[in-house]
Amino acid sequence: MAICPQCPDQDDSLEEDTMKVYSPLTLEKLARQSLLREEALAISALKDLPNILFPVMFEEAFINGHTKVLTAMIPVWPYPYLSVGMKIRNLNLETLKAMLEGLDILIAQKVRSSRCKLREIIWRKRYHDVFGICTRSYEGLPGFMTQKQPMQNSPGCGVKKELKVTTQLELMEGRLDESATYLLQWAQQRKDSIHLCCRKLNIQGLTKPPVIEIFNFLHADCVQDLELFHLRTEDLALLNPYLRQMNNLLNLKLCHIIDIPSDSEMSQLPKFQCLKSISVTSVSFIRDNLKGFLRCLKKPLDSLNITDCILSQSDLDFLPYCLNIFELKLLSLAYINLSYFHLEPLRFFLERVGHSLECLELEACGIQDSQFNNLLPAISQCFHLRDVSFCDNDFSLLFLKELLHHTAQLSQLKSEAYPAPLECYERGVILSHRLENFCPELLDILRAKRKPKEVTFETTQCSKCGGYYIYDLGSQSCIFQL
Ligand SMILES: [Zn+2]
Ligand SMILES: [Zn+2]
Repeated sequence: MAICPQCPDQDDSLEEDTMKVYSPLTLEKLARQSLLREEALAISALKDLPNILFPVMFEEAFINGHTKVLTAMIPVWPYPYLSVGMKIRNLNLETLKAMLEGLDILIAQKVRSSRCKLREIIWRKRYHDVFGICTRSYEGLPGFMTQKQPMQNSPGCGVKKELKVTTQLELMEGRLDESATYLLQWAQQRKDSIHLCCRKLNIQGLTKPPVIEIFNFLHADCVQDLELFHLRTEDLALLNPYLRQMNNLLNLKLCHIIDIPSDSEMSQLPKFQCLKSISVTSVSFIRDNLKGFLRCLKKPLDSLNITDCILSQSDLDFLPYCLNIFELKLLSLAYINLSYFHLEPLRFFLERVGHSLECLELEACGIQDSQFNNLLPAISQCFHLRDVSFCDNDFSLLFLKELLHHTAQLSQLKSEAYPAPLECYERGVILSHRLENFCPELLDILRAKRKPKEVTFETTQCSKCGGYYIYDLGSQSCIFQL
């Protein structure tokens, strides 16, 4: 616990001005907009609209709420996929209804327009690169390449229907939002021709009837990403029959799961056929049970992230003997107090995953010099490491130098975060000028062996304001951050 010198009179003016950059309207855009002002004209012009302009035209109609144009474009959509990104403006019930009306026209048609290639609508695709409308599938295949290929069912979602609507659903305290509720009812009424495919399911707080109702209609097989928040372990037991059907689950995230279950409840967690990533935050039943928990794996895991949980020494002792975790690319044990632990098992473990590990996060673990010293030979053999984070551990300046001599050998490192050494604190106060003085010499240790890319040295957070000091390679100075 330390406080920072900024605390007595804090500066509130740190808020960044968010500058919005407006790009000039192109002539093409102006033409589209004037066309859309006359909806009837726009609809009649669709037959002459080149395929390549469909996505931009659709996007324009979408963000300006020209719902009639949206409906008219669906039955002549010239690509297999129509993907609507999370961040597009006007993502609401009205635009959804307009698109579904278009699908209804398509379903009712005895003979389809030869132009129409539409097989799948993806509603609310949450990827960074999808801001508006695109013609890519959920799996991110480039849409322009796939239009000549037969529709491939994505792995495991074996449901074959005429048309597919892929979405992600959030069930908050038993409730879906109005768009999701509408979509679900719409799809239920057309279940002979529409497959509603839920790739990502997020359940926060469990209310039994709505969950059962949802799983009665959705195919558990479709779910690839499952996030469970704020549940009790008995809720997990209720979900277990459905979890057991999730044969295509790739990513499982558990956050804030409370209560301590009996062993029998835990052994009920099913084996997942192809799980690639587990993320566990604030989950109490992990304690003394890591081995039992990881028994759910059937294939080698890529990513194991256990954050803000309590582990026991026996959990750590088991780690090198757990099955299916020796091809890990990411290991995070952040915010887990390891200050009283023998870390030899972690060293054995790192030796075993050294051939595959790309990201190692041991942040805020309270690890001291003598403990971490055990890990150094193993870490310096993890030649594929790209990201490491060792912030918020109790390292002396001398030891930090030793650590840097080891990480200096790791040529693939792109991002490295280290703690400010203990010498940067005195009587509970953060001394940022000392950090500023130490860092050039610390960076020189890395520079002697390779060209470092992103390197930071961070102090602990101030216990009063939560601010901290960070020295980074880019700015070469010590900056206060809140
Ligand atoms: Zn402070
Ligand atoms: Zn599906």
